[in-house]
Amino acid sequence: MSFAGYENHIGNSLRELRESGLFRQIPPVDHGADKFLLLDGKPLLNLASNNYLGLAGHPALKAGAVSAVEKYGASSGASRLISGNFALADELETEAAAFKDTEAALFFGAGFAANVAVMSALADRQTVVFADRLNHASIIDGVRLSGARHVRYAHNDLSALAALMEKHASATRKLVVTDTVFSMDGDLADLRGLADLCDRHDALLVVDEAHATGVMGPGLAHVQGVADRVDVHMSTFSKGLGSSGAFVAANRQIIDFLRNRARPFIFSTFPPPAVIGANLAALRLVRETPDMGKRVLALGDQARTRLRKMGLDTGESATPIIPVMIGDSEHALAARDALMRQGVYVGAVRPPTVPQGTARLRISLRADLTDNDMETLYAALTGLHEEVL
Ligand SMILES: *Cc1c(COP(=O)(O)O)cnc(C)c1O
Repeated sequence: MSFAGYENHIGNSLRELRESGLFRQIPPVDHGADKFLLLDGKPLLNLASNNYLGLAGHPALKAGAVSAVEKYGASSGASRLISGNFALADELETEAAAFKDTEAALFFGAGFAANVAVMSALADRQTVVFADRLNHASIIDGVRLSGARHVRYAHNDLSALAALMEKHASATRKLVVTDTVFSMDGDLADLRGLADLCDRHDALLVVDEAHATGVMGPGLAHVQGVADRVDVHMSTFSKGLGSSGAFVAANRQIIDFLRNRARPFIFSTFPPPAVIGANLAALRLVRETPDMGKRVLALGDQARTRLRKMGLDTGESATPIIPVMIGDSEHALAARDALMRQGVYVGAVRPPTVPQGTARLRISLRADLTDNDMETLYAALTGLHEEVL
């Protein structure tokens, strides 16, 4: 590097990260979506992936990917608006819209891109965006890019939101955006309460169903009976659906608008046929088996009961995402390492992914866990409690 200012800046930043225990590295994991992953070649029970339904290795998804590759090859060849389209992509969007009971849907290569696209297209300088404080980073980045006024409300605090909406009552356009299942806490948004506020204030309601899709059928909006009161549904294929990418489902007008204004859609090569083939297979599986999430949801209930009995703090979790609150980052890492020694792999989530002082283990359950696997987890956590906490 020839520019000393940069060298100092990068070097200092790395040093600070290392000194504060926040330096990130890719762990030496192989087979990271499987029930047993390999860490440095050693098999560990994988409670860190978002493959909640175990679909990533499902024969139907593999077959969907392979047959799409054989028919269309490895690449879509261009942006969808130029020549990157193929019939399977249209089919996927038709099925996705039917899954969500909306008029139309649009596919994106990643959930991150979908949120950046939605927020930067639907919000602008004349918009006030009301956002839950724990929303996913991609929503935050999308709002920043949009130039909208970003008003963040305390997590799940509808009276705080009501007051803020009152305060900004004269804004030209208003939009409320929330995760439905919060990714690091595993708790749920109150979509009915949000829809009521949106009605009262003439605001658009945008929901991110990344962690609910498949696990709760089409998503939490359907479970809570308010799907038709949500204006924009974002869902990912990359979590419960076991594949990759995302879709946005909405009325035809909003989807037409996104096709014309969503820059991550317009200026990016459309994802490859393999991904679309796998997604279509996943979507058909969960539509045919609407209660596919039943087992993993029940495992969540069971695990929370057991963990609370051990005196562990699982926060407000109500899903297969179960945080074990620890607080201090170093402690969280030590706890993760102790579990690893017992054959269980979970994520240690630290700031800035979660607020300062709320470092935690993040256990994410999956439908293919046996009762024996669950006992392995409980035994490891019992040991942890004695050793580290
Ligand atoms: C993972 C996640 C995303 C991003 O989706 P990817 O497909 O992984 O890019 C968006 N929103 C939420 C809430 C997520 O948890």
